[in-house]
Amino acid sequence: MSTAPISNVATPAHDAPVVRIQNLNKWYDKFHALKDISLDVRSGERIVICGPSGSGKSTLIRCINQLEVHQQGTLEVLGETLDDNRQRLQRIRRSVGMCFQHFNLFPHLSVLKNCTLPQTANLGIAQADAIEHALSLLDRVQMREHANKYPGQLSGGQQQRIAIARALCMRPKVMLFDEPTSALDPEMIAEVLEVMVDLAKEGMTMLCVTHEMGFARRVADRVVFMDRGEIVEEAPPRQFFDAPRSPRTQQFLTQILDHGVSNA
Ligand code: ADP
Repeated sequence: MSTAPISNVATPAHDAPVVRIQNLNKWYDKFHALKDISLDVRSGERIVICGPSGSGKSTLIRCINQLEVHQQGTLEVLGETLDDNRQRLQRIRRSVGMCFQHFNLFPHLSVLKNCTLPQTANLGIAQADAIEHALSLLDRVQMREHANKYPGQLSGGQQQRIAIARALCMRPKVMLFDEPTSALDPEMIAEVLEVMVDLAKEGMTMLCVTHEMGFARRVADRVVFMDRGEIVEEAPPRQFFDAPRSPRTQQFLTQILDHGVSNA
């Protein structure tokens, strides 16, 4: 891959966390999905969130740009508190890129248009500048030659790389990934992880829900393990994988590593 920067990550003016989550609680009706979650993410940090299915990982990541609404606790992004102020939420959402398991590209728009429309519609960027920026990012994820195709003409791995480029077009300060490779055929996982590794190397602040433990080992500053709506353990990768403290983490790692989950 080329070495041109994939993003324009702002240098933090101070050492305040980019994301600050304090005593967050969320219920779906009576079901307590997130229990007293606290987590600080500093500028440039790469956090991998893992845990069994249904443990609340996706809910947590979706709370960060209020795709899910929490009921208790506080959530700050770039120093702004998420509450019911719509203007503030719009501002926060513009700084938070999100990449989902399913790519959510507009099927009726070309790859290029998928990448320019959010810029022109949401950021008010001039068409020519939006195209230039989109093409540079498509280049970066090695998809420039497909700019005029439609998502349905591309493989899952290619669509996910475009989804990442599209999110980066918004010049985010932090990127959230929610199992970006879990819907992909095995041979396509590496190409998407490679883009994510590059992004991490360039200093993008990232929170990634993933089962790709090789990626976690290689890239994460901290691995956060969730189970039943709680953060059970968080540690740097070496400690997390080689000396997990909690029996629940140990059990999870035994299961996931025994089942040969792919490595980056
Ligand atoms: P994970 O990402 O770890 O698999 P989720 O955050 O998707 O877990 O889900 C956590 C729990 O919340 C699960 O038990 C799930 O069934 C429940 N849940 C998720 N979304 C909803 C929803 N929209 N309504 C009701 N329950 C939900």
